[in-house]
Amino acid sequence: MRDVFGKVWLVGGGPGDPGLITARAREVLGAADVVLYDSLVAPELLELCPRAELRSVGKRFGSESTPQAEIRDALLEHARKGRRVVRLKGGDPTLFGRACEEVSALAGAGIPFEIVPGVPSPLAAAAYAGIPLTHLELSSSLAIVTGKERSGTEWSSERIRKLGSAVDTVCILMGTHRLEEIAAALVEGGRAPGTPAAIVEWATTPRQRVVVAPLHELPARARAAGIGSPAVVFVGEVVGLRERHRWFDSRPLFGRRVLVPRPEHQAAETARAVRARGAAPVVFPVIELHDPPDPGPFREAMAALDRYAWVLFTSANGVDRSFAELDRLGRDARAFGRARIGAIGPRTAAALTARGLRADVVADEFVGEGLARSLLAADAAGPVLLPRARVAREALPDTLRGAGLQVDVVAAYETRPLGAERAAALAELLAGGRVDTCLFTSTSTVTATMDALGDRALGLLHPLQIACIGPVTERAAAERGLRVDVTARSYTAEGLLDALEERTRADAAARPAPPA
Ligand code: SAH
Repeated sequence: MRDVFGKVWLVGGGPGDPGLITARAREVLGAADVVLYDSLVAPELLELCPRAELRSVGKRFGSESTPQAEIRDALLEHARKGRRVVRLKGGDPTLFGRACEEVSALAGAGIPFEIVPGVPSPLAAAAYAGIPLTHLELSSSLAIVTGKERSGTEWSSERIRKLGSAVDTVCILMGTHRLEEIAAALVEGGRAPGTPAAIVEWATTPRQRVVVAPLHELPARARAAGIGSPAVVFVGEVVGLRERHRWFDSRPLFGRRVLVPRPEHQAAETARAVRARGAAPVVFPVIELHDPPDPGPFREAMAALDRYAWVLFTSANGVDRSFAELDRLGRDARAFGRARIGAIGPRTAAALTARGLRADVVADEFVGEGLARSLLAADAAGPVLLPRARVAREALPDTLRGAGLQVDVVAAYETRPLGAERAAALAELLAGGRVDTCLFTSTSTVTATMDALGDRALGLLHPLQIACIGPVTERAAAERGLRVDVTARSYTAEGLLDALEERTRADAAARPAPPA
Protein backbone atom coordinates (compact mmCIF):
# COMPACT_ATOMS: atom_id res chain seq x y z
CA MET A 1 0.00 0.00 0.00
CA ARG A 2 1.21 3.49 -0.83
CA ASP A 3 1.95 5.93 1.97
CA VAL A 4 -0.44 8.84 2.33
CA PHE A 5 1.87 11.75 1.67
CA GLY A 6 1.49 15.26 2.85
CA LYS A 7 2.64 18.06 0.67
CA VAL A 8 5.37 20.68 0.64
CA TRP A 9 4.97 24.27 -0.48
CA LEU A 10 8.10 26.27 -1.24
CA VAL A 11 6.89 29.75 -0.52
CA GLY A 12 8.41 33.15 -1.16
CA GLY A 13 7.87 35.42 1.83
CA GLY A 14 8.89 38.60 0.00
CA PRO A 15 11.68 41.01 0.82
CA GLY A 16 10.78 42.22 4.33
CA ASP A 17 7.68 44.38 4.22
CA PRO A 18 5.03 41.87 5.33
CA GLY A 19 2.57 43.59 2.99
CA LEU A 20 4.56 42.32 0.03
CA ILE A 21 3.53 38.71 0.49
CA THR A 22 1.31 37.23 -2.23
CA ALA A 23 -2.33 36.29 -1.69
CA ARG A 24 -1.45 32.68 -2.51
CA ALA A 25 1.35 32.59 0.06
CA ARG A 26 -1.02 33.92 2.70
CA GLU A 27 -3.52 31.20 1.87
CA VAL A 28 -0.91 28.43 2.03
CA LEU A 29 0.53 29.72 5.33
CA GLY A 30 -2.94 29.85 6.86
CA ALA A 31 -3.40 26.13 6.23
CA ALA A 32 0.12 24.95 7.14
CA ASP A 33 0.84 22.34 9.82
CA VAL A 34 4.58 23.01 9.87
CA VAL A 35 6.55 26.03 8.70
CA LEU A 36 10.32 25.89 8.28
CA TYR A 37 11.45 29.48 7.83
CA ASP A 38 14.59 31.44 7.05
CA SER A 39 15.72 34.30 9.23
CA LEU A 40 15.27 36.92 6.51
CA VAL A 41 11.53 36.28 6.50
CA ALA A 42 9.42 39.10 7.99
CA PRO A 43 8.43 38.01 11.54
CA GLU A 44 4.88 39.27 10.95
CA LEU A 45 4.38 36.49 8.39
CA LEU A 46 4.58 33.90 11.16
CA GLU A 47 1.38 35.34 12.59
CA LEU A 48 -0.37 34.21 9.40
CA CYS A 49 0.05 30.56 10.37
CA PRO A 50 -1.59 30.25 13.78
CA ARG A 51 -2.06 26.48 13.45
CA ALA A 52 1.47 25.69 12.45
CA GLU A 53 4.47 24.39 14.32
CA LEU A 54 7.16 26.96 13.59
CA ARG A 55 10.78 26.09 13.12
CA SER A 56 13.56 28.51 12.31
CA VAL A 57 16.15 27.06 9.98
CA GLY A 58 17.74 30.47 9.81
CA LYS A 59 20.72 31.01 7.65
CA ARG A 60 22.39 34.30 7.96
CA PHE A 61 25.73 35.63 7.01
CA GLY A 62 27.73 32.61 7.95
CA SER A 63 26.31 32.49 11.47
CA GLU A 64 24.81 29.36 12.98
CA SER A 65 22.52 27.73 10.46
CA THR A 66 20.78 24.45 9.88
CA PRO A 67 22.68 22.32 7.38
CA GLN A 68 20.90 22.00 4.05
CA ALA A 69 20.72 18.21 4.38
CA GLU A 70 18.94 18.55 7.69
CA ILE A 71 16.37 20.93 6.21
CA ARG A 72 15.78 18.54 3.34
CA ASP A 73 15.33 15.61 5.70
CA ALA A 74 12.92 17.58 7.87
CA LEU A 75 10.80 18.45 4.81
CA LEU A 76 10.64 14.81 3.74
CA GLU A 77 9.94 13.54 7.22
CA HIS A 78 7.07 15.93 7.93
CA ALA A 79 5.54 15.34 4.49
CA ARG A 80 5.72 11.59 4.99
CA LYS A 81 3.69 12.00 8.16
CA GLY A 82 0.95 13.44 5.99
CA ARG A 83 1.46 17.02 7.10
CA ARG A 84 1.12 20.26 5.16
CA VAL A 85 4.64 21.62 5.18
CA VAL A 86 5.67 25.13 4.18
CA ARG A 87 9.28 25.98 3.44
CA LEU A 88 9.21 29.76 3.78
CA LYS A 89 12.06 31.71 2.25
CA GLY A 90 12.91 35.37 1.90
CA GLY A 91 12.09 37.06 -1.41
CA ASP A 92 11.44 34.50 -4.12
CA PRO A 93 12.21 30.91 -3.11
CA THR A 94 14.10 30.01 -6.26
CA LEU A 95 16.27 33.11 -6.56
CA PHE A 96 19.60 32.28 -4.92
CA GLY A 97 17.52 30.33 -2.43
CA ARG A 98 18.76 26.78 -2.83
CA ALA A 99 15.18 25.73 -3.43
CA CYS A 100 16.39 23.62 -6.34
CA GLU A 101 18.07 21.15 -4.01
CA GLU A 102 14.92 20.89 -1.96
CA VAL A 103 12.72 20.47 -5.05
CA SER A 104 15.03 17.74 -6.37
CA ALA A 105 14.80 15.85 -3.11
CA LEU A 106 11.00 16.12 -3.03
CA ALA A 107 10.66 15.07 -6.67
CA GLY A 108 13.04 12.18 -6.07
CA ALA A 109 11.01 10.99 -3.09
CA GLY A 110 7.73 11.33 -4.97
CA ILE A 111 6.36 13.87 -2.54
CA PRO A 112 3.92 16.38 -4.03
CA PHE A 113 5.04 19.99 -3.90
CA GLU A 114 4.14 23.47 -5.12
CA ILE A 115 6.28 26.55 -5.64
CA VAL A 116 4.73 29.86 -4.64
CA PRO A 117 6.82 32.69 -6.08
CA GLY A 118 7.60 35.73 -3.98
CA VAL A 119 8.59 39.33 -4.62
CA PRO A 120 12.38 39.11 -5.02
CA SER A 121 14.46 41.49 -2.93
CA PRO A 122 16.28 43.07 -5.91
CA LEU A 123 12.98 44.12 -7.49
CA ALA A 124 11.49 45.26 -4.21
CA ALA A 125 14.65 47.10 -3.15
CA ALA A 126 14.71 48.95 -6.45
CA ALA A 127 11.07 49.94 -6.10
CA TYR A 128 11.39 51.06 -2.45
CA ALA A 129 14.58 52.99 -3.20
CA GLY A 130 13.00 54.72 -6.20
CA ILE A 131 15.40 53.16 -8.70
CA PRO A 132 13.74 52.04 -11.95
CA LEU A 133 15.48 48.88 -13.18
CA THR A 134 14.79 49.60 -16.83
CA HIS A 135 14.11 52.88 -18.56
CA LEU A 136 13.17 53.86 -22.10
CA GLU A 137 16.45 55.72 -22.68
CA LEU A 138 18.77 54.66 -19.86
CA SER A 139 18.46 50.91 -19.53
CA SER A 140 17.06 48.10 -21.62
CA SER A 141 18.75 45.21 -19.85
CA LEU A 142 19.22 43.99 -16.32
CA ALA A 143 21.43 41.35 -14.75
CA ILE A 144 20.90 40.00 -11.24
CA VAL A 145 24.01 38.33 -9.90
CA THR A 146 25.35 37.00 -6.64
CA GLY A 147 28.53 38.32 -5.09
CA LYS A 148 29.23 34.93 -3.57
CA GLU A 149 31.51 32.26 -4.96
CA ARG A 150 29.99 29.25 -6.65
CA SER A 151 30.03 26.39 -4.16
CA GLY A 152 33.30 24.52 -4.19
CA THR A 153 35.16 27.19 -6.18
CA GLU A 154 37.16 30.34 -5.41
CA TRP A 155 35.43 33.64 -6.04
CA SER A 156 36.54 35.14 -9.30
CA SER A 157 35.83 38.57 -10.70
CA GLU A 158 35.43 37.22 -14.20
CA ARG A 159 31.63 36.98 -14.37
CA ILE A 160 31.21 40.43 -12.89
CA ARG A 161 33.85 41.87 -15.25
CA LYS A 162 31.83 40.68 -18.24
CA LEU A 163 28.78 42.52 -16.95
CA GLY A 164 30.74 45.76 -17.06
CA SER A 165 29.82 46.08 -20.73
CA ALA A 166 27.17 43.40 -21.30
CA VAL A 167 24.14 44.96 -19.59
CA ASP A 168 22.84 48.38 -18.62
CA THR A 169 21.68 47.80 -15.03
CA VAL A 170 23.63 45.45 -12.77
CA CYS A 171 22.13 44.28 -9.52
CA ILE A 172 24.24 42.34 -7.02
CA LEU A 173 22.98 40.30 -4.08
CA MET A 174 25.16 39.03 -1.26
CA GLY A 175 27.93 41.37 -2.30
CA THR A 176 28.37 43.66 0.71
CA HIS A 177 31.53 41.98 1.96
CA ARG A 178 33.16 42.18 -1.47
CA LEU A 179 32.14 45.60 -2.68
CA GLU A 180 35.67 46.79 -3.56
CA GLU A 181 36.36 43.80 -5.76
CA ILE A 182 32.95 44.01 -7.42
CA ALA A 183 33.27 47.72 -8.22
CA ALA A 184 36.79 47.23 -9.53
CA ALA A 185 35.69 44.30 -11.69
CA LEU A 186 32.88 46.33 -13.26
CA VAL A 187 35.26 49.20 -14.05
CA GLU A 188 37.82 46.79 -15.50
CA GLY A 189 35.01 45.37 -17.59
CA GLY A 190 34.34 48.74 -19.16
CA ARG A 191 31.87 50.49 -16.85
CA ALA A 192 32.71 54.18 -16.31
CA PRO A 193 33.96 54.76 -12.73
CA GLY A 194 31.54 57.66 -12.40
CA THR A 195 28.44 55.51 -13.14
CA PRO A 196 25.73 56.13 -10.54
CA ALA A 197 25.58 53.29 -8.02
CA ALA A 198 23.67 52.53 -4.84
CA ILE A 199 23.54 50.04 -2.03
CA VAL A 200 20.21 49.37 -0.32
CA GLU A 201 20.30 47.76 3.11
CA TRP A 202 17.22 46.19 4.78
CA ALA A 203 15.13 47.21 1.80
CA THR A 204 11.36 47.69 2.25
CA THR A 205 11.60 47.78 6.05
CA PRO A 206 11.66 50.79 8.39
CA ARG A 207 15.40 50.09 8.73
CA GLN A 208 16.03 50.68 5.02
CA ARG A 209 19.22 52.66 4.31
CA VAL A 210 20.44 53.74 0.92
CA VAL A 211 23.90 55.01 0.03
CA VAL A 212 24.28 56.53 -3.43
CA ALA A 213 27.71 57.29 -4.93
CA PRO A 214 29.65 57.08 -8.17
CA LEU A 215 30.66 53.44 -8.71
CA HIS A 216 34.31 53.90 -7.77
CA GLU A 217 33.39 55.65 -4.52
CA LEU A 218 30.54 53.36 -3.45
CA PRO A 219 32.63 50.80 -1.49
CA ALA A 220 34.28 53.44 0.71
CA ARG A 221 31.03 55.36 1.20
CA ALA A 222 29.10 52.19 2.12
CA ARG A 223 31.83 51.18 4.52
CA ALA A 224 31.84 54.63 6.13
CA ALA A 225 28.07 54.43 6.60
CA GLY A 226 28.44 51.00 8.20
CA ILE A 227 26.23 49.26 5.65
CA GLY A 228 26.00 45.52 6.33
CA SER A 229 23.80 42.64 5.22
CA PRO A 230 21.26 42.13 3.83
CA ALA A 231 21.87 44.59 1.06
CA VAL A 232 21.47 44.88 -2.69
CA VAL A 233 23.80 46.85 -4.94
CA PHE A 234 22.61 48.66 -8.07
CA VAL A 235 24.91 49.99 -10.76
CA GLY A 236 23.68 51.90 -13.80
CA GLU A 237 22.44 55.26 -15.08
CA VAL A 238 18.96 54.49 -13.67
CA VAL A 239 20.30 54.99 -10.14
CA GLY A 240 20.51 58.69 -10.95
CA LEU A 241 16.71 58.85 -10.97
CA ARG A 242 16.41 58.01 -7.27
CA GLU A 243 16.49 61.60 -6.08
CA ARG A 244 13.33 62.32 -8.07
CA HIS A 245 11.67 58.92 -7.70
CA ARG A 246 12.22 58.16 -4.04
CA TRP A 247 9.05 57.89 -2.02
CA PHE A 248 9.44 55.32 0.77
CA ASP A 249 12.36 56.58 2.81
CA SER A 250 11.40 60.22 2.31
CA ARG A 251 8.10 59.89 4.17
CA PRO A 252 7.82 61.96 7.33
CA LEU A 253 7.45 58.98 9.68
CA PHE A 254 9.91 56.73 7.86
CA GLY A 255 12.07 54.71 10.22
CA ARG A 256 10.26 55.94 13.33
CA ARG A 257 9.78 53.24 15.98
CA VAL A 258 6.29 53.61 17.33
CA LEU A 259 5.08 52.03 20.55
CA VAL A 260 1.50 50.76 20.31
CA PRO A 261 0.52 49.94 23.89
CA ARG A 262 -2.59 47.93 23.07
CA PRO A 263 -3.75 44.34 23.27
CA GLU A 264 -2.43 42.29 20.34
CA HIS A 265 -5.78 41.75 18.64
CA GLN A 266 -6.59 45.45 18.73
CA ALA A 267 -3.15 46.60 17.78
CA ALA A 268 -3.15 44.81 14.44
CA GLU A 269 -4.90 47.55 12.53
CA THR A 270 -2.87 50.36 14.12
CA ALA A 271 0.31 48.38 13.49
CA ARG A 272 -0.61 48.03 9.81
CA ALA A 273 -1.30 51.74 9.56
CA VAL A 274 2.03 52.55 11.20
CA ARG A 275 3.86 50.22 8.84
CA ALA A 276 2.13 51.69 5.81
CA ARG A 277 3.86 54.97 6.62
CA GLY A 278 7.30 53.39 6.66
CA ALA A 279 7.49 53.35 10.45
CA ALA A 280 8.05 50.34 12.69
CA PRO A 281 5.24 49.40 15.09
CA VAL A 282 6.35 48.04 18.45
CA VAL A 283 3.26 46.38 19.88
CA PHE A 284 3.23 45.95 23.63
CA PRO A 285 -0.09 45.10 25.31
CA VAL A 286 -0.46 47.04 28.57
CA ILE A 287 -3.97 45.92 29.37
CA GLU A 288 -5.36 42.50 30.04
CA LEU A 289 -9.08 41.86 29.57
CA HIS A 290 -10.93 39.74 32.10
CA ASP A 291 -14.52 38.91 33.04
CA PRO A 292 -15.95 41.41 35.50
CA PRO A 293 -15.97 40.23 39.14
CA ASP A 294 -19.77 39.92 39.03
CA PRO A 295 -20.86 39.00 35.50
CA GLY A 296 -24.53 38.53 36.58
CA PRO A 297 -26.00 41.87 35.44
CA PHE A 298 -24.23 41.69 32.08
CA ARG A 299 -25.46 38.16 31.46
CA GLU A 300 -29.02 39.04 32.44
CA ALA A 301 -29.01 42.08 30.19
CA MET A 302 -27.67 40.10 27.24
CA ALA A 303 -30.38 37.49 27.77
CA ALA A 304 -33.06 40.16 27.46
CA LEU A 305 -31.67 42.50 24.83
CA ASP A 306 -34.92 43.26 23.07
CA ARG A 307 -36.22 44.82 26.26
CA TYR A 308 -34.09 47.82 25.34
CA ALA A 309 -34.87 50.57 22.89
CA TRP A 310 -31.13 51.26 22.44
CA VAL A 311 -27.94 49.31 23.03
CA LEU A 312 -24.81 51.46 23.04
CA PHE A 313 -21.26 50.35 22.45
CA THR A 314 -18.30 52.46 23.47
CA SER A 315 -15.54 50.03 22.46
CA ALA A 316 -14.85 47.14 20.11
CA ASN A 317 -14.16 45.13 23.28
CA GLY A 318 -17.72 45.72 24.41
CA VAL A 319 -18.96 44.40 21.07
CA ASP A 320 -16.68 41.35 21.19
CA ARG A 321 -17.63 40.52 24.77
CA SER A 322 -21.35 40.92 24.06
CA PHE A 323 -21.22 38.56 21.11
CA ALA A 324 -19.19 36.06 23.11
CA GLU A 325 -21.98 36.12 25.69
CA LEU A 326 -24.70 35.72 23.04
CA ASP A 327 -22.73 32.82 21.65
CA ARG A 328 -22.63 31.26 25.10
CA LEU A 329 -26.40 31.62 25.26
CA GLY A 330 -26.71 29.89 21.90
CA ARG A 331 -28.03 33.06 20.30
CA ASP A 332 -26.89 35.44 17.57
CA ALA A 333 -27.36 38.99 16.29
CA ARG A 334 -31.15 38.48 16.13
CA ALA A 335 -31.16 38.73 19.92
CA PHE A 336 -31.02 42.51 19.48
CA GLY A 337 -34.56 42.34 18.14
CA ARG A 338 -36.05 45.78 17.82
CA ALA A 339 -33.29 47.45 19.83
CA ARG A 340 -31.46 50.17 17.95
CA ILE A 341 -27.71 50.40 18.17
CA GLY A 342 -25.29 53.25 18.85
CA ALA A 343 -21.51 53.23 18.43
CA ILE A 344 -18.96 55.70 19.77
CA GLY A 345 -16.82 55.73 16.64
CA PRO A 346 -15.85 54.01 13.40
CA ARG A 347 -13.80 51.25 15.03
CA THR A 348 -16.66 50.20 17.26
CA ALA A 349 -19.03 50.48 14.29
CA ALA A 350 -16.67 48.28 12.26
CA ALA A 351 -16.67 45.66 15.04
CA LEU A 352 -20.48 45.64 14.79
CA THR A 353 -20.50 45.41 10.99
CA ALA A 354 -18.16 42.43 11.28
CA ARG A 355 -21.01 40.75 13.23
CA GLY A 356 -23.63 41.70 10.69
CA LEU A 357 -25.04 44.69 12.58
CA ARG A 358 -25.10 48.23 11.30
CA ALA A 359 -25.08 50.95 13.97
CA ASP A 360 -28.10 53.25 13.73
CA VAL A 361 -26.10 56.10 15.19
CA VAL A 362 -22.33 56.64 15.14
CA ALA A 363 -21.10 59.64 17.13
CA ASP A 364 -19.66 62.57 15.17
CA GLU A 365 -17.17 63.19 17.91
CA PHE A 366 -15.81 59.88 19.20
CA VAL A 367 -16.19 60.49 22.95
CA GLY A 368 -18.99 59.78 25.44
CA GLU A 369 -20.34 63.33 25.18
CA GLY A 370 -20.34 63.04 21.41
CA LEU A 371 -22.38 59.83 21.40
CA ALA A 372 -24.84 61.32 23.91
CA ARG A 373 -25.26 64.37 21.68
CA SER A 374 -25.80 62.30 18.55
CA LEU A 375 -28.37 60.12 20.33
CA LEU A 376 -30.31 63.03 21.73
CA ALA A 377 -30.26 64.66 18.30
CA ALA A 378 -31.80 61.43 16.97
CA ASP A 379 -34.56 61.71 19.62
CA ALA A 380 -33.47 58.49 21.29
CA ALA A 381 -35.75 57.17 24.03
CA GLY A 382 -35.08 54.70 26.85
CA PRO A 383 -34.55 52.16 28.11
CA VAL A 384 -30.88 52.19 27.12
CA LEU A 385 -28.34 49.43 27.72
CA LEU A 386 -24.64 50.24 27.92
CA PRO A 387 -22.39 47.13 28.11
CA ARG A 388 -18.89 48.48 28.71
CA ALA A 389 -15.72 48.26 30.80
CA ARG A 390 -16.28 48.04 34.55
CA VAL A 391 -14.42 51.29 35.14
CA ALA A 392 -15.17 53.98 32.59
CA ARG A 393 -16.10 57.63 32.25
CA GLU A 394 -19.65 58.54 33.27
CA ALA A 395 -20.25 61.31 30.72
CA LEU A 396 -22.44 59.20 28.44
CA PRO A 397 -24.83 57.68 31.02
CA ASP A 398 -24.94 60.93 33.03
CA THR A 399 -25.88 63.04 30.01
CA LEU A 400 -28.56 60.58 28.88
CA ARG A 401 -30.01 60.31 32.38
CA GLY A 402 -29.95 64.09 32.60
CA ALA A 403 -32.17 64.11 29.53
CA GLY A 404 -34.62 61.78 31.30
CA LEU A 405 -33.63 58.45 29.76
CA GLN A 406 -33.39 55.23 31.75
CA VAL A 407 -29.88 53.81 31.34
CA ASP A 408 -28.63 50.39 32.49
CA VAL A 409 -24.85 50.34 32.71
CA VAL A 410 -23.43 46.81 32.92
CA ALA A 411 -19.82 45.67 33.15
CA ALA A 412 -19.07 43.45 30.15
CA TYR A 413 -15.40 43.17 31.06
CA GLU A 414 -12.76 44.62 33.24
CA THR A 415 -9.26 45.64 32.39
CA ARG A 416 -6.35 44.75 34.61
CA PRO A 417 -2.87 46.14 34.77
CA LEU A 418 0.21 44.27 33.61
CA GLY A 419 1.87 41.70 35.81
CA ALA A 420 5.30 42.58 37.28
CA GLU A 421 7.29 40.63 34.73
CA ARG A 422 5.66 42.22 31.69
CA ALA A 423 5.88 45.63 33.33
CA ALA A 424 9.63 45.15 33.77
CA ALA A 425 9.91 44.14 30.11
CA LEU A 426 8.13 47.34 29.07
CA ALA A 427 10.46 49.44 31.22
CA GLU A 428 13.44 47.72 29.66
CA LEU A 429 12.13 48.35 26.16
CA LEU A 430 11.85 52.06 26.90
CA ALA A 431 15.13 52.32 28.80
CA GLY A 432 16.90 50.69 25.86
CA GLY A 433 15.86 53.57 23.61
CA ARG A 434 14.15 51.17 21.26
CA VAL A 435 11.13 53.38 20.58
CA ASP A 436 10.82 57.03 19.54
CA THR A 437 7.10 57.69 19.72
CA CYS A 438 4.24 56.43 21.87
CA LEU A 439 0.67 56.29 20.56
CA PHE A 440 -2.02 56.54 23.20
CA THR A 441 -5.34 55.50 21.69
CA SER A 442 -7.41 55.60 24.88
CA THR A 443 -7.35 56.90 28.43
CA SER A 444 -7.15 53.32 29.66
CA THR A 445 -3.88 52.74 27.81
CA VAL A 446 -2.47 55.92 29.38
CA THR A 447 -3.45 54.75 32.84
CA ALA A 448 -2.23 51.21 32.29
CA THR A 449 1.13 52.33 30.87
CA MET A 450 1.74 54.79 33.69
CA ASP A 451 0.69 52.27 36.34
CA ALA A 452 2.84 49.54 34.84
CA LEU A 453 5.94 51.78 34.86
CA GLY A 454 5.26 53.14 38.33
CA ASP A 455 7.79 55.65 39.68
CA ARG A 456 9.92 55.43 36.56
CA ALA A 457 7.07 56.29 34.19
CA LEU A 458 7.76 59.97 33.62
CA GLY A 459 11.50 59.47 33.26
CA LEU A 460 11.12 56.60 30.82
CA LEU A 461 8.47 58.31 28.70
CA HIS A 462 10.11 61.73 28.70
CA PRO A 463 12.45 61.12 25.73
CA LEU A 464 9.52 59.86 23.64
CA GLN A 465 7.24 61.88 21.45
CA ILE A 466 3.80 61.36 22.97
CA ALA A 467 0.81 61.29 20.60
CA CYS A 468 -2.81 61.07 21.76
CA ILE A 469 -5.83 60.05 19.75
CA GLY A 470 -8.06 62.84 21.05
CA PRO A 471 -8.61 65.49 23.69
CA VAL A 472 -9.90 63.10 26.37
CA THR A 473 -6.82 60.92 26.08
CA GLU A 474 -4.65 64.03 25.94
CA ARG A 475 -6.17 65.29 29.18
CA ALA A 476 -5.62 61.92 30.87
CA ALA A 477 -1.97 61.97 29.78
CA ALA A 478 -1.49 65.56 30.94
CA GLU A 479 -3.08 64.76 34.31
CA ARG A 480 -0.47 62.04 34.78
CA GLY A 481 2.23 64.62 34.14
CA LEU A 482 3.06 63.67 30.56
CA ARG A 483 4.01 66.25 27.94
CA VAL A 484 1.71 65.59 24.99
CA ASP A 485 3.36 66.50 21.69
CA VAL A 486 0.62 65.67 19.22
CA THR A 487 -3.14 65.25 19.43
CA ALA A 488 -5.21 63.98 16.53
CA ARG A 489 -7.98 66.10 15.09
CA SER A 490 -9.76 63.08 13.70
CA TYR A 491 -9.95 60.53 16.50
CA THR A 492 -8.79 57.42 14.65
CA ALA A 493 -5.42 55.72 14.22
CA GLU A 494 -5.14 57.20 10.73
CA GLY A 495 -6.02 60.62 12.09
CA LEU A 496 -3.36 60.23 14.75
CA LEU A 497 -0.71 59.28 12.19
CA ASP A 498 -1.80 62.18 9.96
CA ALA A 499 -1.28 64.53 12.88
CA LEU A 500 2.14 63.01 13.59
CA GLU A 501 3.18 63.43 9.96
CA GLU A 502 1.98 67.01 9.94
CA ARG A 503 3.92 67.73 13.10
CA THR A 504 7.06 66.10 11.75
CA ARG A 505 6.87 68.15 8.53
CA ALA A 506 6.38 71.34 10.52
CA ASP A 507 9.33 70.50 12.80
CA ALA A 508 11.54 69.81 9.78
CA ALA A 509 10.52 73.09 8.16
CA ALA A 510 11.29 74.99 11.37
CA ARG A 511 14.77 73.50 11.71
CA PRO A 512 17.58 75.58 10.21
CA ALA A 513 18.94 74.01 7.02
CA PRO A 514 22.13 72.00 7.62
CA PRO A 515 25.31 73.79 6.55
CA ALA A 516 26.16 73.03 2.94
N1 SAH B 1 15.59 34.57 -2.39
C1 SAH B 1 15.96 35.90 -1.99
C2 SAH B 1 17.45 36.12 -2.02
C3 SAH B 1 18.20 35.22 -1.10
S1 SAH B 1 19.91 35.56 -1.06
C4 SAH B 1 15.21 36.93 -2.82
O1 SAH B 1 14.51 36.59 -3.75
O2 SAH B 1 15.33 38.10 -2.52
C5 SAH B 1 20.02 36.71 0.27
C6 SAH B 1 20.38 38.07 -0.25
O3 SAH B 1 19.23 38.73 -0.74
C7 SAH B 1 20.95 39.01 0.76
O4 SAH B 1 22.32 38.80 1.00
C8 SAH B 1 20.71 40.34 0.10
O5 SAH B 1 21.64 40.58 -0.92
C9 SAH B 1 19.36 40.11 -0.53
N2 SAH B 1 18.27 40.58 0.31
C10 SAH B 1 17.29 39.85 0.83
N3 SAH B 1 16.43 40.62 1.53
C11 SAH B 1 16.90 41.88 1.43
C12 SAH B 1 16.47 43.15 1.92
N4 SAH B 1 15.37 43.29 2.65
N5 SAH B 1 17.21 44.23 1.60
C13 SAH B 1 18.31 44.13 0.86
N6 SAH B 1 18.77 42.97 0.40
C14 SAH B 1 18.07 41.86 0.65
